[in-house]
Amino acid sequence: MKKLKLLSLGILLLGAGYSIIPTYYHKLWNPRNLRRLSLKPDSSQKVIALTFDDGPDPRYTGRILDLLKELHVKATFFVVGEKAKQHPQLIDRMIKEGHQVAFHSFEHGNGMFKTPGYTKRDFKKCRELARKYGWKIRLFRPPWGHTNLWSKYYAKKNGFELAYWNVMAQDWSKHATPVTITTKLMRRIKPGSVICLHDSGGAPGAPEHTISALKQVLPWLLRQGYEFIGLEDDPIWKRS
Ligand SMILES: [Zn+2]
Repeated sequence: MKKLKLLSLGILLLGAGYSIIPTYYHKLWNPRNLRRLSLKPDSSQKVIALTFDDGPDPRYTGRILDLLKELHVKATFFVVGEKAKQHPQLIDRMIKEGHQVAFHSFEHGNGMFKTPGYTKRDFKKCRELARKYGWKIRLFRPPWGHTNLWSKYYAKKNGFELAYWNVMAQDWSKHATPVTITTKLMRRIKPGSVICLHDSGGAPGAPEHTISALKQVLPWLLRQGYEFIGLEDDPIWKRS
């Protein structure tokens, strides 16, 4: 019995060291891993970054790009490598239209539960894909913000910086509606916000609600005087 308790404690400590501590360190504390824009938020600087995870998705991404083009809004797309490989023309379109492209892993695996070998391969596959198509990609957002002891090391080794978010509207949820997403965004967005929405994945049809909400929220933000920048344009990346 005592052996079993010691074994459980050992596993718990290993898990904490391998996954839990790195995840929360990078997600909540490490100042190098951008969560909010480091531009000084004062009343004259209403700057925000709009980001999308989990795409590209031929059902939704093009429609989001159409809307962004119509409103002259720039965004950052955190794409999943295997989806980008299937729809490279959507990535080329993002770049052509002045958006920034970043990675959201290759397979959307949960870094907390992945081995060092898997972690190494996932980052490498992203780098190779970007090189194959000539996409210049600098930022990497771990799925769910979950990492392990090796994530930061392999991110750096492959030329990526970890980047997070500080505003979510739970647009992936089956309970989300255009109204809940719009209300949350209007309440939560402040100067310096890094907004995380989804152009793919989540509950069936979820990005449809995201698109409807964006049609309300983006004109509202523009009327408030907000300016949208790509996440890579934050000065923190220039200091290194
Ligand atoms: Zn994701």
